[in-house]
Amino acid sequence: MAAWLRLAAARVHERRTWLTDLDAAIGDGDHGINLDRGFGLVAERLAAGALGGPGGATLLEAAGRTILGTVGGASGALYGRALSRAGQSLAEAATVPGPRTPCSLARAALQAAADSVAALGRSSTGDKTMLDALFPAVAALEEAERLELPLAEGLRMAAAAAEAGAQATIPLLARRGRASYLGERSIGHLDPGAASSALLLAALADVVARDEASGGGSFTTP
Ligand code: ADP
Ligand code: MG
Repeated sequence: MAAWLRLAAARVHERRTWLTDLDAAIGDGDHGINLDRGFGLVAERLAAGALGGPGGATLLEAAGRTILGTVGGASGALYGRALSRAGQSLAEAATVPGPRTPCSLARAALQAAADSVAALGRSSTGDKTMLDALFPAVAALEEAERLELPLAEGLRMAAAAAEAGAQATIPLLARRGRASYLGERSIGHLDPGAASSALLLAALADVVARDEASGGGSFTTP
């Protein structure tokens, strides 16, 4: 989880101008700046040993609180809540007896995150939001869970589904968030939140792939 938060912060920083440009086209042009501020502070606190822990669940909850407190705009509230809910899901899973596969834990956590965005944003698939990346990723992990695939493979599928889902927002008409104010003029643009969700999931897949390549085993207990 720590490795993911570090890589996520680095990737958001690299792509901040791109994310902001996407938001400038159909929003107010702050998405990259917003996320960079939030994930930057998460990485800083992590490096200083001030984020919390030990354990991935605690780190995620603390990252969510940090983002909630520093990222302005809709995405700060949505990502902040989503990360906290994902952390809670992992913490709860640890208290439930019985075998859980890594893909099942990851699916439950991502589902909790996506559900919390949908509830808070009163949004659903097809509204041209981050959910158009997150829900396809949940479905991909569900498939990986059913097939009992290794986590790295499940997350690779989830990241690919999120990327495809993000690209599929281009022809959609925005029904939530600032982009919805544009009506028909929101058509033809990639949704910035869907783009950042795909980016965050790609970072997660890359971190776990790297971990498994070096012997694996880090993702055993939440
Ligand atoms: P703001 O729109 O407040 O400036 P950001 O620019 O940081 O916030 O984030 C915009 C992104 O947030 C959108 O591209 C969209 O993916 C997501 N978003 C906005 N409103 C909602 C909502 N109600 N439900 C889900 N996602 C939303
Ligand atoms: Mg914005």
